[in-house]
Amino acid sequence: MGTLEDMGTLEDKDKHYIWHPFTQMKDWLEEGPLIIKEGRGSFLKDIYGRWYLDGVSSLWATIHGHRKKEIDDAIKEQLEKIGHSTLLGLSNPPAIELAEKLIKIAPKPNPPSPLFAKGGRGGINNSELRTSMGRRPNSELSKVFYSDNGSTAVEISLKIAFQYWQHKGEKGKTRFLSLNNAYHGDTLGAVGVGGIEVFHNIYRPIIIPSLKAPSPYCYRCELDLTYPSCNIECAKELERTTSRHKDEIAALIIEPLVQAAAGMLISPPGYLKEVKRICTENNILMIADEVATGFGRTGKMFACEHEGVCPDIMAIAKGITGGYLPLAATLTTQDIFNSFLGEYKELKTFFHGHTYTGNPLACAAAIANIEFFEKDRTLEKLHERISFLEERLRPFTELPHVGEVRQKGFMVGLELVKDKKTKEPYPLEDKIGIKVILKAREKGLIIRPLGNVIVLMPPLSISIQEIEKMVKITKWAIERVTE
Ligand SMILES: *Cc1c(COP(=O)(O)O)cnc(C)c1O
Repeated sequence: MGTLEDMGTLEDKDKHYIWHPFTQMKDWLEEGPLIIKEGRGSFLKDIYGRWYLDGVSSLWATIHGHRKKEIDDAIKEQLEKIGHSTLLGLSNPPAIELAEKLIKIAPKPNPPSPLFAKGGRGGINNSELRTSMGRRPNSELSKVFYSDNGSTAVEISLKIAFQYWQHKGEKGKTRFLSLNNAYHGDTLGAVGVGGIEVFHNIYRPIIIPSLKAPSPYCYRCELDLTYPSCNIECAKELERTTSRHKDEIAALIIEPLVQAAAGMLISPPGYLKEVKRICTENNILMIADEVATGFGRTGKMFACEHEGVCPDIMAIAKGITGGYLPLAATLTTQDIFNSFLGEYKELKTFFHGHTYTGNPLACAAAIANIEFFEKDRTLEKLHERISFLEERLRPFTELPHVGEVRQKGFMVGLELVKDKKTKEPYPLEDKIGIKVILKAREKGLIIRPLGNVIVLMPPLSISIQEIEKMVKITKWAIERVTE
């Protein structure tokens, strides 16, 4: 009796022991935590039995809702067999089956290669065409390297891209090209290709800097131009940088369509396709970081599909297990994989691997997640609710302090501004985003801001009524706080 663990409420113990991510702990210690104990569907329940709508999918991860029976069952069933076994020197059935599924749903080149010309493209349904092994062209995503979070999936992408050129004898291709406002994770390699000042600047002295291209952020265009009369000049700028440095660049890394962590910045139509063309013509690899955009978030399984782009390397995480367990994967083409083949003593091996790589429980959850996409026809059913959300977001543009409403599928950013005419942002000390989300919490909605941008990122399973509720509370909270 009387040990520290026995004393105090959960709130006290949280403050005593936990250092929370991306959190100013001084504020946290003053305000106190909201502690979530249970979840069901689109809702979260705190330790006092209060329910909240989960408007950010538990940090962009939940796909088919909390306590999804199919995923619960898959994890329980796997648990009856084994919790963990390694992929270093061994394999396991869920990791194998999931790898096959991931390759089947991965973005395909547009137009589809002649071998597979029949059937629709994108999504899962045409994938049966591709089940026989070894028929895939060398430029399609064909191999899966597992890890356990988005940042590691990005690290692996960068290391593979670098090593690929070393094996190819192009020793000078050692740099990366990334975008301003990019976010690719928090580990140092990922920070090196990151471009969000508030997150990344302090680490500049300890990271390897990347070449940078303008962010396709039309509301605050770096080049002071206006879409569409700009003719997507930011892509031309990227092309100039690329061609100037093409002998030094191993790969370009990009968040396709949506620069999410920067505030849901949506690139103009055609931009991504242009980026792919620039990469191909300049002989550099394209890494698509689909960690946030993958698994239906943008309305298609992967954002690259919107513009028929097939990257050389693709990093996925967040939604892969439906939001249940930590798992990530880096997909590469056969061509890249082949460059790592050689005699043992040649040391062309990819010397990288995390302890929980290919964890069977996480892979079982991911299989159930993907199978449910097919069974439920999740992507088809999503269209109607994406349009509904779009319609309900329209009135926000009239609010005096909403500068821009950005939406791609179920990714929404509402940029709050102090002055709508001049686009003057709220100063940091106003903590305007934090104030809005705390206001929304009073009415039972959990959301999370990115600076002055209010993010809505509900589970794909959210109902029409729940969307209505989410939008209503958000609007009320913004009006209350900004008036
Ligand atoms: C969240 C995110 C990451 C990092 O993933 P973690 O699992 O948090 O390490 C990387 N890239 C993008 C685009 C992300 O949104």
